[in-house]
Amino acid sequence: MINFQYARAGDVADAVRQIAADPTAKFIAGGTNLIDLMKVDVERPSRLIDISRLPLKTVEQTADGGLRIGALVPNSDLAYHPLIAQRYPMLASAILAGASAQLRNMASTGGNLLQRTRCAYFYDTATPCNKREPGSGCSAIAGLNRMHAILGASEACIATHPSDMCVVLLALDATVHVAGPAGERAIAFADFHRLPGNTPERDTNLEPNEIVIAVELPARGFATNYTYLKIRDRLSYAFALVAVAAALELDGSTIKEARLALGSVAHKPWRDPAAEAALRGQAANPAAFARAADVLLRDARGYAHNSFKIDLARRAIVRALTQAARGTPQSQSNKKIL
Ligand SMILES: Cc1cc2nc3c(=O)[nH]c(=O)nc-3n(C[C@H](O)[C@H](O)[C@H](O)COP(=O)(O)OP(=O)(O)OC[C@H]3O[C@@H](n4cnc5c(N)ncnc54)[C@H](O)[C@@H]3O)c2cc1C
Ligand code: SF4
Repeated sequence: MINFQYARAGDVADAVRQIAADPTAKFIAGGTNLIDLMKVDVERPSRLIDISRLPLKTVEQTADGGLRIGALVPNSDLAYHPLIAQRYPMLASAILAGASAQLRNMASTGGNLLQRTRCAYFYDTATPCNKREPGSGCSAIAGLNRMHAILGASEACIATHPSDMCVVLLALDATVHVAGPAGERAIAFADFHRLPGNTPERDTNLEPNEIVIAVELPARGFATNYTYLKIRDRLSYAFALVAVAAALELDGSTIKEARLALGSVAHKPWRDPAAEAALRGQAANPAAFARAADVLLRDARGYAHNSFKIDLARRAIVRALTQAARGTPQSQSNKKIL
């Protein structure tokens, strides 16, 4: 039994005060990732600061036509929110492709961004892992690496970020709002998660004394031609091998604007402006989609057990863009299911 203290934050300022006062403390929101990590002795916070009752549970329209999602909006409430279902169905699809209904009821928006990798060695304290214990080595590079990164990896870590929701937030150009001792700041979603480099212990650019308070979506939701395609070992309750968020704005059969992001292929959700530029102005057909896939995957590199993911990603990109162009998304949004 590991002892830890428990405290409840009264408001955002109090939460920031408490985390700034104790570098070994951790926020707890839904607890669906943190408690698992505590049970296997990967996380050992001296104190849990419970933020689950903070007033960050609303979805509000912004002045410029977007939406501001409170950090404590549960994943299920977000997926079933009418404005998300109607205007951002790609986000609803991604959320509903993740975890299980019970987990989505508990999991929060902020916690989803900050969930940690599913690399088995990270969870196994008997093995070296640079992310868990900096400098100890990476067991996955020469070990079982079937689920691991094909893009952006380093000599220190080849883990992937497992979130579904984050892939779409990246594709939609979301912004993360955070609060810390110096006040509030906004982080572009593309800059929120990090590549491993030689500091794989840091997943994000959130400072240890900061709290995520909201995620903001811009007005454009790509609600007509989109898909979220998640390829996994079984059809539900499994993390992705490769996931693709694809959205198009079409003028007849010509692509005016494209969004393309990959999940579970790198330490962060993966997007590359060059791949989207390769689609702009092209006819929406498999040849153009394959060219964009080649651009997006040009630096992909496999390890002993995961080279198949490069080919899988290429085919998944073409399929996803085809679904988006046809207006036949892989996962129906909740609006259509209900
Ligand atoms: C069996 C299982 C299957 C799953 N399958 C999937 C899946 O297929 N796809 C997918 O995307 N996810 C999946 N998940 C992950 C799940 O989505 C995350 O565990 C969940 O989103 C985390 O949210 P939470 O509120 O429970 O976070 P917590 O566990 O409470 O916290 C996670 C981390 O975030 C920090 N934190 C939480 N909120 C904030 C905040 N506002 N500001 C700063 N730090 C914060 C905590 O300190 C902690 O370090 C699965 C989880 C489980 C257990
Ligand atoms: S891939 Fe990263 S998380 Fe997995 S063992 Fe290596 S250092 Fe640890």
